[in-house]
Amino acid sequence: MKDTNKYKKLLEVEKEKLLKELATVGKKTGKVDGWEATATDLDSDSADENETADVMESLDENKGILEQLEIQLLQVESALGKIESGTYGKCNVCGKEIPEHRLDANPASLTCMEHTK
Ligand SMILES: [Zn+2]
Repeated sequence: MKDTNKYKKLLEVEKEKLLKELATVGKKTGKVDGWEATATDLDSDSADENETADVMESLDENKGILEQLEIQLLQVESALGKIESGTYGKCNVCGKEIPEHRLDANPASLTCMEHTK
């Protein structure tokens, strides 16, 4: 029996961190767990063309970051869900136990070494 409490705490800390990071590059949409990238606020009342380009660039960048963060958040939430349902630590693909050192390195691991993408 794994000490899932330990991982639950780690995952909750990770989730908090991800939510904070998400809030710096996007905003929550009305949809459940939906996030939308926002441009970094350049604080410009008189936006000239260069600044508009910068804003577009930052939006593109933020979109990329947001996508990565969303994937991580999904994994963390999925792992938390597995703790609740008592299936935490089992590979999503083959159902084998995920080695503890792997979970220690990344508590949101959902697969064994063999089935890592
Ligand atoms: Zn596996």
